[in-house]
Amino acid sequence: GNAVVEIDVVVIGAGPGGYTAAIRAAQLGRKVLVIEKGSLGGVCLNVGCIPSKILITAAERFELLSHSDEMGVEAEQVSFNFSKLLKRKHNVIQTLTSGVGSLLKGYQVQVVHGEARFIGSKELIVCNGEYSTSYRFNHCIIAAGSRPAELPGLPFGDKVLSSTDALSLDKLPERLIVVGGGYIGIELGQAFAKLGTKVTTLEAGATILPGFDKRMANMVSRNMKKAHADIYTGANVKRITTADGEVIVMFDHSGEEKQITADYVLVSVGRMPNTDQLGLEAAGVEANGKGYIEVDRQCRTNVSHIYAIGDIVPGPALAHKAAYEGKVAAEAIAGERRYVDYRCIPAVVFSDPELAAVGLTEQAAHKSGYDAMVGNFSYGANGRALTLNAAAGMVTLVGDKKTGAVLGAQIAGPEASNLIAEITLAIEMGASFEDIALTIHAHPTLGEMIMEAAENGLGQGIHSL
Ligand code: FAD
Repeated sequence: GNAVVEIDVVVIGAGPGGYTAAIRAAQLGRKVLVIEKGSLGGVCLNVGCIPSKILITAAERFELLSHSDEMGVEAEQVSFNFSKLLKRKHNVIQTLTSGVGSLLKGYQVQVVHGEARFIGSKELIVCNGEYSTSYRFNHCIIAAGSRPAELPGLPFGDKVLSSTDALSLDKLPERLIVVGGGYIGIELGQAFAKLGTKVTTLEAGATILPGFDKRMANMVSRNMKKAHADIYTGANVKRITTADGEVIVMFDHSGEEKQITADYVLVSVGRMPNTDQLGLEAAGVEANGKGYIEVDRQCRTNVSHIYAIGDIVPGPALAHKAAYEGKVAAEAIAGERRYVDYRCIPAVVFSDPELAAVGLTEQAAHKSGYDAMVGNFSYGANGRALTLNAAAGMVTLVGDKKTGAVLGAQIAGPEASNLIAEITLAIEMGASFEDIALTIHAHPTLGEMIMEAAENGLGQGIHSL
């Protein structure tokens, strides 16, 4: 029919940003509708964070079993069954996405499947096959996310894989070229390498994992090389051709033209915001030159009753940032004075070793005008790390010498992804090195390294000089 349905808050997209915003708005008493054209959970649950971590965990287990003789674990002929892993991946995703569905239902958020497009500043249309319905809303939250960027003139398909394609291969490739040494390319490339794929990474910049401390990125390159994965930095891809079921990548490196042949090339050169199909003009919402929607500190677009969150707005493309902004936008709609604060968004790479960073590095602290203090601790001096056979790794804690306040941290090593949470909380609460040093940490745990790094910074290190 042509009837227009009235709704208070409409959310476009049910990724980590959109579903979080919807639940929070419902908790605050709003009548909420979420529109999703794909699957609940968005990129993160279906083709991002979760499936990539499933692959990475399998690769890690496979490698551990093949290298644990010193612990007396003599596993012979460890083999890897890719189709079993795919089944498990399917089940985990199913569990998580249906969990999101139950939560939305439990909070009485209405879910509509279809593609949303604005037809006015307070009206949108949702198309699902031949059906379409119009909705009139008071508030809207755009959480339509992003998609993998293609190389110019080189569309995804056949032998040219996006991260989504690489995560849905049904057979382990023998040879894989990864174009792009950002965190997605490195995570996937290193996992495939551990499972036996011959991986070559081509990165245009001077180092892989730009944005991370160089020492940390180097630890990852070293481990990749140990797994016989090649890395070319300063590599400029010139041409990619496919023939006879193979793909050939030509690139410039150190003034020479080189060429590599593989079964597939994974292009992970960044992501693009999904702004192009939303009919933003009809709503009067502006996007910047790169397609991102600029927002204020409450995630409001230039149209005051329309908000935008997550990968479609500028900033790091991370699930926890999307969810955080979702809560801010929902609370802003409810009239609360909640504003984003980007001082401490943890960034994690699930590489080997894991890398995690939050807040400021020492250099950044100096640049921001702080008299910086630093505390260091190495995994090699931590008992639990040695029992885990994980002696390679380090913790660096950065603070303000004047007040002792924690400003940031960088961690490389097993469980860095979990360890960073304590420091994120410390920064959020304005805690000092002394607060962390005075806190009793259970022994033997990796968490003791955080306490030890704080003690080290205060000149009171017990297990460090
Ligand atoms: P998305 O998750 O992109 O969700 C947007 C949703 O909107 C989609 O479901 C889409 O179908 C829907 N949609 C779009 N347009 C419309 C429309 N017109 N109508 C209706 N629905 C629409 N982040 C981390 O924090 N940690 C990680 O470890 C991590 N690993 C990753 C690994 C990979 C391989 C990839 C690709 C990404 C990874 N990310 C990770 C990034 C993370 O997935 C994204 O930052 C996050 O999903 C963004 O959330 P979002 O809600 O903004 O958008």
